[in-house]
Formats: sequence, structure tokens, C-alpha cells
Amino acid sequence: MIADTTFESCDVAVLGGGPAGAACAIALARAGVGRVVLCESEEVRPFRLGETIPPDSRALLDRLGVLDAFLADDHMACHGSCSSWGSDGLGYNDFMLRPYGHGWHIDRPRFEELLLENAAQAGAELWLGAQFAGTERIDGGHRLAFRGAPTLEARFVVDATGCSAAFARRQEAQRTGLDTLHCIAARFRKAAPGLSRLTWLEAVPEGWWYASRLPSDRLLVLFASDADVVRDHGFSDPETWLAALRRTRHIRALLEHVSDAHERPRAGAAPSFCLDRVAGDDWAALGDAASACDPVTARGLWKALSGALVLADAVQAALAGDTAPLDAYAGAVRQDFTTYLAMRRDLYGLETRWPDAPFWARRHASVTA
Ligand SMILES: Cc1cc2nc3c(=O)[nH]c(=O)nc-3n(C[C@H](O)[C@H](O)[C@H](O)COP(=O)(O)OP(=O)(O)OC[C@H]3O[C@@H](n4cnc5c(N)ncnc54)[C@H](O)[C@@H]3O)c2cc1C
Repeated sequence: MIADTTFESCDVAVLGGGPAGAACAIALARAGVGRVVLCESEEVRPFRLGETIPPDSRALLDRLGVLDAFLADDHMACHGSCSSWGSDGLGYNDFMLRPYGHGWHIDRPRFEELLLENAAQAGAELWLGAQFAGTERIDGGHRLAFRGAPTLEARFVVDATGCSAAFARRQEAQRTGLDTLHCIAARFRKAAPGLSRLTWLEAVPEGWWYASRLPSDRLLVLFASDADVVRDHGFSDPETWLAALRRTRHIRALLEHVSDAHERPRAGAAPSFCLDRVAGDDWAALGDAASACDPVTARGLWKALSGALVLADAVQAALAGDTAPLDAYAGAVRQDFTTYLAMRRDLYGLETRWPDAPFWARRHASVTA
């Protein structure tokens, strides 16, 4: 029971001001949906992994009305990817052959700020430092409790709290299809201006490495594997991580173009899952809260933005009494996750060089299953 007897009320509360929540708040506010409150636990945008967006993001940014502002920012063209996956050689996938041209290596904090600024300009209220902490059902909506903000009653709640799915899981939605990678990443400073603008992917017996340019002449390098493999090989130790990076066949060559200085590698979990219930009575989950993908697919931001546009329309319909679009949205999220599982199965199935290495043996076992 929420004890607070003084509260505010709104039409839609969007929980989580990451890319999904901010984009949804923009679309709702622009559509003229009454009072939209965007509640984000962080006061300032922290460093987050996830910095490459594909060319067709352009159309989504355009539909959100932020494309010109996005292009004016200091993001960097990404011309495609190259990978050593399934063989020792490199294969190339060039974005320039796609109808939208290049993708981008984004300045992630700046990208998130841009979306928040646009949400505010569109008329959404930003509650920064408001951490959603509890909820109870009320007639015609939900009552929400926060750390750092007053109690809020909302006719509809969008859960965009990322993988924590903090609201949806309180509605007894469960995460299904769960696989969790353990990632260790560091940013190198002073990358040479001519350094490749491709993303790099390299499979190794213990997992895979990823490298990507960042704006401001930096290079991000990330290793992904299972938590026990990371622990058994001591990859959490910065020296061991760097030594393993220097043993890669291809990605190590990028290090010749950066200064040695890098931040201390940071570890983080990257779960992939889908909720068994993506929407319910006067609520829906969005972005990583609804379904999260293996970072090897680099599709989380596209999925967050495209889902936000579809959900904003469904929320408007639900507020007007028509829940069919909400059901269709939830079905599409589940269908998209099924498609993603097949894609992940095919991708990991391509790498057969180390059948006995635990990381690959587990991926192949899940392929067989
Ligand atoms: C290692 C790694 C690499 C990745 N690389 C890429 C990539 O190259 N390209 C790509 O497209 N995607 C990538 N992704 C995925 C991408 O980052 C996510 O899909 C994307 O961030 C999802 O956006 P979101 O808004 O749904 O969630 P998030 O970005 O997680 O945002 C959730 C927001 O909710 C807030 N929040 C959480 N709990 C609460 C609460 N209780 N109350 C209020 N606010 C709360 C958080 O502070 C956060 O701001 C990567 C992911 C990982 C882990």
C-alpha cells in the first residue's frame, strides 16, 4: 500500500528516460496526449554501452522529428562492419549498398540528451532523479511511488526501465528465453582520425570481441562471454583483458592507431529475454524492458525507437477505449523476439571452430535445442 496521501496525476507516466522512454514521450506529447510525465532515476546521463545505430534509424529519427538536430550533433558515420566469425579471414558488410547509406557511431550521452530535450520541448514533463519504487492498481490506472519524487497516479504506464522491467515485473510479467552475456569494455583515447569507421567483430575460443569508433577520436573495445568463462580466465583483471585483446588476430591491429591510454575496463551484464506479458491493464513495456537482444546484433536502439512510435499510437487508442492496437503491439514484440532467436541461432551456428570450448558448446547446444 502506498502511504503518501498527496499525489499528482497524469495521463501517461513513462518510467525510464533512456532512448525508448524518451522517444515514446516525444511521440505521445507531439500527438497531444494530455499530461505526459517522463520519470528517470538518473539526474545526468551516465556512460552506457550501445553506440552503433544502423542506416534505417534515419527514418525513425525523422518520424520523431529529431533528425535535423541529430545530424547537427557530433555523431560519426559508420560505413558497415567486418567480422572474423566462422573462419580466420575477415568478411565485410558494407552499409553504402543500403538505401539509407551509412549508419552512425553515436555519442550515446549526447544522443540521450537530445531525445530528452525534444521530449521536454514537445510538452512532456521530465522528472529527473525520480526512481520508480512501487505501484498499486487504482480505478482507471495505477498509483506509482518514487524515490526522489511525489506519488503519481497515471491512467496509463509505459515501462521503459531497461532490462530491469521494474514495473512489468511487479505486474507478474516474467522474463523468458533468458541468456546473459558478461561484457567487459574499455574506451581508448586518441584514435587516429583515419582509423576504420567499420565495426569490428572477432570470435575467439573464449567468446567474442567487438570494436567500434566513438566520436571525439576514441575507440571502444568490448569482450563478451559467459560469466564463468570470464571468471576462470581472469578477464576482469585489466592486464589479463588487455593481454587477451593483444592476442586477437584482427582487432589488435586497431591498437596501433590509438594511444595506449584507456579507461579501466568496466564489466556489465547483457541479458537477452522477452517478457511473457508485454502489456496488460493500462500498462505496456517498451524497449529493453519488453525484450532485449544479444549485443552482437546491435539492434537494441533501433528496436527502442521503432517500438516507441508504435506504442505511442497504441497508448492513444487505449486511452480512448480501444485496446486492439495494444494487443497487436504486444504480439509484434513477441513475434520479433522469435525472429531474433532464429537469427541468433543461425549466427552462433556459423562459428564451429571450437566445438569443445564452453562458450561455443553452450551456444551450439541451444542451437540444437
Ligand atoms: C554491451 C552492450 C552493447 C550494446 N551495443 C549496442 C549497439 O551497438 N547498438 C544498439 O543499437 N544497441 C546496443 N545495445 C543495446 C542498447 O544499448 C539497448 O537496447 C538500449 O539501451 C535500450 O534502450 P532502453 O531505453 O529500452 O533501455 P535503457 O537504455 O537501459 O534505458 C532505461 C532507462 O531507465 C532508467 N531506469 C531504470 N530503472 C528505473 C526506475 N526504477 N525508475 C526510473 N528510471 C529507471 C535507467 O536509468 C535508464 O535511463 C548494447 C547493449 C549492451 C549491453
